[in-house]
Amino acid sequence: MEISQGVHLIKGVRGSNCYLVTHPELTLIDTGMPGQHRKILSYITSLGYENGKLRRIILTHHDLDHMGSAADLQRVTGAAVCIHRADADCVLGRSPRRPFWKAWLSSLATLWPEFRPPEITRLLEDGQNMDLLQVIHTPGHSAGSITVKYGPVLFVGDLLRWGRVFKQTPRCFNEDSSAIRDSIKKIASLDFDLLCPGHGKPVFGASHKLRELGSRWSWGRQ
Ligand SMILES: [Zn+2]
Repeated sequence: MEISQGVHLIKGVRGSNCYLVTHPELTLIDTGMPGQHRKILSYITSLGYENGKLRRIILTHHDLDHMGSAADLQRVTGAAVCIHRADADCVLGRSPRRPFWKAWLSSLATLWPEFRPPEITRLLEDGQNMDLLQVIHTPGHSAGSITVKYGPVLFVGDLLRWGRVFKQTPRCFNEDSSAIRDSIKKIASLDFDLLCPGHGKPVFGASHKLRELGSRWSWGRQ
């Protein structure tokens, strides 16, 4: 479903939201749990693109529900897989996930028959640009969590969630909840309209709504 010009939310992907940016080249943002690649590929095909047109996969962070199908998509399409350097070792199993229960959960993930880690072809850093996409380092949920800005659209991964208002991801899911506040303040200063979270619905008019969250925290006094 096209939710904004050149931005699609691929419905029916299990795990996280999976977004496709089509202009100027095909970029996928997050991939859902393992086993979701066929659904994602058939959506890309339904738009009239061949699989090989997928240029890159950007992972907002290392969690399995976001990177689970990256390896299969990479195998079929040859797309580059990009993640912030601070999360790369978790994807490759070279450093343990935090908080501790994620390390435990990820050891179970390796038993998942369809799961393999992707080959990371590009390490991302704050401020980096790829075509019209800008990488913003927004640590907290994980050390290498990123937000991706595409014109007036922000893809924030698990930085925050939307209920009736914006909320932080619950503390127990985060590596460093105090860093999340700083990251949310960082994106609140940007010029944007549509916020695309890793879970839940995309939010229009989000800049204004995010400022409401800021006023609850009394940002002006800090
Ligand atoms: Zn998630």
